[in-house]
Amino acid sequence: MDVKITGKTRLTGLLGSPVSHSLSPAMHNRAFQFLRLDYVYLCFDVVEKDLKTAVEGLKICGIRGFNCTMPDKNRMLELTDSCSKAAEMIGAVNTVLNEGGILTGYNTDGIGFMRAAAENGFIPGGKAVTILGAGGAATAIAVQAALDGISHLTIAARPGSRFHNRTVSLLDSISRNTGCQTELTDIRDRKELERNLSSSDLLVQATPVGMPPATGQTILDDFSSLKKGALVADLIYNPRQTTFLKLAEASGFRTFNGLRMLLYQGAEAFRIWTGRDMPTEEVLLLLQ
Ligand code: NAP
Repeated sequence: MDVKITGKTRLTGLLGSPVSHSLSPAMHNRAFQFLRLDYVYLCFDVVEKDLKTAVEGLKICGIRGFNCTMPDKNRMLELTDSCSKAAEMIGAVNTVLNEGGILTGYNTDGIGFMRAAAENGFIPGGKAVTILGAGGAATAIAVQAALDGISHLTIAARPGSRFHNRTVSLLDSISRNTGCQTELTDIRDRKELERNLSSSDLLVQATPVGMPPATGQTILDDFSSLKKGALVADLIYNPRQTTFLKLAEASGFRTFNGLRMLLYQGAEAFRIWTGRDMPTEEVLLLLQ
């Protein structure tokens, strides 16, 4: 399909560093072309110290909106005029809408994950969720799942985690804002983990263990204590089926990988900028 840039083409894009590996330009540009929308999506390699200047410039140039990735996601929160409840609680913005110089920040990662979970039959109301890992992706999912109505959330992390203090205040904020009961456990304490797994309706693998260079490794190899009928997710999409998911499936659990989370976080950003639904099945062809 040809890209036709006109005098009226609206700009969207990605800010972060590095950004050259990103799948977002291919996803959004395919969707713009498919729907014949006069928009384009470009990548801008912007380090954190230059973010404010870059955002001011793009704003003056009339950018419609943009995504933010590391290291700019957290700093971006301070540069928006207002932000969604999820972005505020997560402490990071991955999507910005520019309306006449007024910037609104969103975080669509958790929304993308919850849509993928819903497609796999997960209805959050009153459910218990355990997340392995306490990084950026875990945080976004924890907040969105709580906002969507789960009643119990456990984050299992390493005792010396880089994110320990942030996780303690995150869980406090989640329980204050949503009423969801929260717990932080030591991922290496098998007894504690098994106790949590026995009442978990959804188990989420949110560490990089299982992706290159740790392909073939798994954070958990025994699913026998996991609640019967639970849904198991791995945020990794390369490889498509990690050892974690293989073992969960072999133990009789339904599973899904991170591909649809990637797709749907983009779809939500696309909707925010254009007001249109992303043609997700068309875009998915690019990712497979
Ligand atoms: P991150 O911010 O770096 O956090 C990674 C977390 O994993 C940290 O809590 C880290 O613990 C923990 N961890 C790493 N190795 C571990 C190990 N051996 N044992 C126990 N915990 C370990 O990363 P992220 O951005 O959240 O990404 C996490 C995963 O999700 C990655 O695989 C990423 O590719 C994937 N992801 C997928 C999507 C999607 O759209 N599908 C989106 C975002 C991320 P410490 O703090 O102790 O180091």
